[in-house]
Amino acid sequence: MKKNTVSREVQLLSKKEAIQELQKLFLEIRKHDNLYYNNDSPEITDAEYDKLKLLNLAIEERFPELIKTKSPSKTVGGEPAVKFSRVRHTVPMLSLANIFNNDDIEKFLSRIRQELRLDFTSELEISVEPKIDGVSFSALYENGRLVLGSTRGNGSEGENITQNLKTIAGLPKILTSDLHPVPKILEIRGEVFINKNDFLKLNQEQKSKGSKLFANPRNAAAGSLRQIDPLITQSRNLRVFAYAWGTVENRTWDTQHSYLTCLKDWGVPVNPDTEICLTADRIKSVFRSISDMRGTLDYDIDGVVYKVNSVAYQMQIGALSKAPKWAVAHKFEAERASTVLKKIDIQVGRTGALTPVGRLQPINVGGVIVSNVTLHNESEIKRKDIREGDTVIIQRAGDVIPQIIKVVQEKRRQDTEPFSYPEQCPECQSTAICEEDEVVRRCTGGLACPAQAVERLKHFVSRNAFDIEGLGKNTIDDFYAQNRIKNPADIFTLELRDSLPHNLKPIRSNEGWGRTSAAKLFKAINERRTISLDRFLFALGIRHVGQETTKLLARKYKSIDMLQDQIAAATATATGKNSEEYLTLCNIKGIGEKIASGITSFFSSDQNQKIIMELQKQINIEPLTEVVNTNSFLTNKTVVFTGTLEKMSRTTAKNEAELKGARVSNSVSAKTDIVVAGQNAGSKARKATLLGIQIVSEDDYIQLINT
Ligand SMILES: [Zn+2]
Repeated sequence: MKKNTVSREVQLLSKKEAIQELQKLFLEIRKHDNLYYNNDSPEITDAEYDKLKLLNLAIEERFPELIKTKSPSKTVGGEPAVKFSRVRHTVPMLSLANIFNNDDIEKFLSRIRQELRLDFTSELEISVEPKIDGVSFSALYENGRLVLGSTRGNGSEGENITQNLKTIAGLPKILTSDLHPVPKILEIRGEVFINKNDFLKLNQEQKSKGSKLFANPRNAAAGSLRQIDPLITQSRNLRVFAYAWGTVENRTWDTQHSYLTCLKDWGVPVNPDTEICLTADRIKSVFRSISDMRGTLDYDIDGVVYKVNSVAYQMQIGALSKAPKWAVAHKFEAERASTVLKKIDIQVGRTGALTPVGRLQPINVGGVIVSNVTLHNESEIKRKDIREGDTVIIQRAGDVIPQIIKVVQEKRRQDTEPFSYPEQCPECQSTAICEEDEVVRRCTGGLACPAQAVERLKHFVSRNAFDIEGLGKNTIDDFYAQNRIKNPADIFTLELRDSLPHNLKPIRSNEGWGRTSAAKLFKAINERRTISLDRFLFALGIRHVGQETTKLLARKYKSIDMLQDQIAAATATATGKNSEEYLTLCNIKGIGEKIASGITSFFSSDQNQKIIMELQKQINIEPLTEVVNTNSFLTNKTVVFTGTLEKMSRTTAKNEAELKGARVSNSVSAKTDIVVAGQNAGSKARKATLLGIQIVSEDDYIQLINT
C-alpha cells in the first residue's frame, strides 16, 4: 500500500475516530505479533502486517498527542523487531514485584517464611543488592564462549543483540576458571548501564552533532545497545553488572551469594555493594545506607533488591506468571530538591496553545542538572499559587520531566505577587482564550501568529485546502525562514517578487532549485488562484471547523462577502449572541455553539480580516457548485461510513451522498439512518446493529447512488 493512500484515509478521521482506530490497531498488531513471534503461526502476510503498522504511524503523525508509550510504534515488536531478529528465552526473563516501605519488608519476609513453613526462630538468608537502573540483558555461554546475547523484550522474547553485547569491554567473551568450573551451558543475566559521567559526555557529543539528547542514563544505555552498527555501541562505553542466571546445565552453586562469587571468579562484573542479611532490621539498615550513597555512585540505581539466598528455597517458593515470589524490588522514592523559581515563561505552541515553563536556579537532582520545570497549565499555577521568586520543591521520578511538588511558603519573599497569566498571546498580542471545557489557553491569532504561522501555512497549501503541488512542508519551512512567505497572500505574490530586483536571491538559486522547478512551482500556484468557498474556509484553519463544516457554511452563505457580513452582524457587540444572524449560524444543522464560537472569534479578529482582504486581491473565491438531487432515496438521510471502502475513496463516497441530499456524519447515533459498512467495519457497525439501523454493503451503496 502506498503511503499516500494511507494518509488520505487518515485525513478523514476525526480525533474520536482516531482514538478508536489506534486502540483497534493496538490490539490487532499485538495479536499478530503474538501469533508470529510466539506461536510461529502468522495469520497475515508480512505486507499486510506492514500495512497495519503504516496506518498506525500515519494516524500518529496526524494526531501526535494520541501517541501512547505502549504504541506499536514505540514498543518491542515495533521498529526494533525490524532491526534485530528475535530470541526466545528458554527460561522467561521475569520482572520483580515492587515494594515501597519498611512494612512491606516485614510482609515479604513473613510471606516467605509461610511459603517455606519456617518459624520465626529459624534462619533465613536474604541477599540484598542495589537495583541498577539500566537495561536487562541475557548472555548465553556455550563451553564458556559467549554465543548469544539478547534483550529482555517482553520477557519471553527478546532481540538478538549478540554483536552489540560483544563490544562491551567489561563482559568477558570467554569464561575460564580452575576454581569454579564453568557450566557447559550457562545463561548469565544482568543489567547494561552507562556511568553518569559517560552519559553527560555522550549528550555533549550528541548536542555538538545536532543529534537528539538522551533523557537519562537508562535511555542512553538502551539506545546505545540497540544500534544497528555495533561500532557505535562500542563507542558508548557501556558497562554491565550480572546478578542472575537463566538456562544452566549442571549448576555448581546453591545460593545467590555463591553464584555471585563464581561470576567474580570468571571475570564477570558484579555489584560490590551486595550483602547477605539475616534480619528485617539489618535489611532496613542496608536499604538506608544504599539509599544514602545513591548520589555518590557513578551509576543510577532506583532501588534495592531482596532475594532469598538459597536456590533450593527459591525453587520451593516458585514464581507467578510475571515475577518470582522469592524476590522483590524495594523502590526509592522519587528524588526531590528545593530551589528558586526565577521566572515563569509562556511558550506558544505550533497549535497556539500557551504553555507555562518554569525557569529554575539550576540544581542537581539525583545526578541530573535541572533548570526547567513543567508548570502544566494556568489552573495548576493558580491552584498551587506558584509565584516568580518562590522557593519550590521539585521532583524528578525516572525520566519524567521534573515538576513542582509545592511552594515552600515559609521562604516566600514579601514582594512576590500571584502570577497573572497573560490573556494575550506573547508572540502576536492576539487575545488568548480558554474555552469552557478546556484547561489550555489558546492564541486566537491563527495565521497572524508567528508561533503558529508555519503550521498554518502548511495547512493552507495542503491537499484538502489550496492543494498546491510543489509547496510541501519542507519548502514552507525554508521559505518562511527566508522571509519569502510570511502570510498566505505572499504565496500568490511569490512569482512577482521573485522577478523583481530584490534583496533576496531568486528561488532558482536556492539549493535544490533551478529555473525549471521554480517555474513549475509558480505554475502550480497560478493554477490555484480560483478556489471554491468551502476549500477556502478550510484553508483558513478556523478552530473546530473541519471540511464538513466548511461545506455547510459554503452552502448557507454562498459567498465570502455574504459570510463575512453575516458573521460580523453575529458578533456585533450590541446584539451579539442574541442577534438573528448568530441564531442562523447556530441553527445550521451540524453547527453547534462550540463551532459557532470558533467561527465568530476567527472573523472578529482584525488580523484575520486583513489576511482575507489581502488574499482576495490575489484569488477568486467561487461559490460551492453542487447540483444536489433532492429526490433520491438518500435525500435528507443521515449516513455514516465505516470500514474500508474498496471501490471508491471515502471522500468520493461522502461527496456522492451529499450530492444526493444526504448528510454525512462521523458517528452512529439514534439519528443515523444508514450505515455503509466496508471491509473490517468495527464498533460503528456493531452499534448500528444494536440501534436497529439499516446497514448496507459498499456494493449496495454504489447501487443506491447510481439510481
Ligand atoms: Zn499568537
